[in-house]
Amino acid sequence: MKTEKNGVTIIQFENLSQSGLVCHGFSTRLGGVSQGERATMNLGFTRGDRRDVVEENFARLAQAVGVDVEQIVFGKQVHGTEILKVEKPLPMDGVLKSSIQGYDGLMTNVPGVALLTYHADCVPVFLLDTKQKAIAMVHSGWRGTVGGIGPKALLAMQQAYGTNPADVLVGIGPSIGLCHFQVGEEVVKAFGAAYPFAQDFWRKDDVPGKYKLDLWGIIRRQLQDGGVPEAQIETSGLCTMCDTQLFYSHRKMGEARGTMAAVLALKEE
Ligand SMILES: [Zn+2]
Repeated sequence: MKTEKNGVTIIQFENLSQSGLVCHGFSTRLGGVSQGERATMNLGFTRGDRRDVVEENFARLAQAVGVDVEQIVFGKQVHGTEILKVEKPLPMDGVLKSSIQGYDGLMTNVPGVALLTYHADCVPVFLLDTKQKAIAMVHSGWRGTVGGIGPKALLAMQQAYGTNPADVLVGIGPSIGLCHFQVGEEVVKAFGAAYPFAQDFWRKDDVPGKYKLDLWGIIRRQLQDGGVPEAQIETSGLCTMCDTQLFYSHRKMGEARGTMAAVLALKEE
C-alpha cells in the first residue's frame, strides 16, 4: 500500500504494518531533493548526486519510515546470495567506503538497527520472524533468485535466531513484474535447472527467443517450499517499469536514473 508522510511517498505492506513489530518501507521517486533525471528521491551515492543531496534524501526517508538515520546499515551489493548478520549499527560511509561489501542480504535481531538494500527493478524481500523477533532484508534480482537468496535468508535466520518459518511474515516489494521482465533463453534455462517448478512462472514473449519471467511468483514459491505459509506472503504487485513517475527503472531508464531503497527495522521497546 502507498502511504505519504511529510511529502515522502513510500510503499508498505499490510502484514508487516499490522504486526506492530517493525518500521518499514520501500522508497519511491517522490519526496526527495534530487534534480533532473534523478528527481527526486535518489538514495544512491554513486549516481552523480552530491553527497549532501543524497544525505538529505536519506534523512527524509528515515523520518518517513520511522527509523534513526544513524542506525541505517547498507553496503555494496553484488547480485550474490551472501547474508550478513548485523550486530550493531555501522557508520554510514556510503557504498564505496562501506565495510559491507559483497552482501545482498542483511539480517538482525537488534531493535533499531535499520537494514537497507538498494533497488531499481530487482526484487526487495522483507522477512520478519514475529516470534523470535528477527528480520532480514534481501535484494533478489534474477541472479540472486536463481541462487535462492530468499530461502537462504530464511535458513540463516533459522540458524542465527532459531526462526521457525511458520512464524515468518514476508513482503515482496515493487520491482520489475511479469508484464515487463523480458529475458533470454539462458535465464529460463538457469531457472529450470535450479527449480523444476520455475517453468510455471515464465511464458514465451512476442519476441522470438525471448520470455517473460515472474520473479515474484518464483520467490513466493521458494519461500513456501522453505516453510512460510502462503497466507503470510504479501506481494505489492507494483511493477517499477510500468510506472516511472513513481519508481526508477533500470530497464526503462538505463543509467539516467536514481536508486531506490527498501528499509526494515525492529521497533525499539
Ligand atoms: Zn510492468
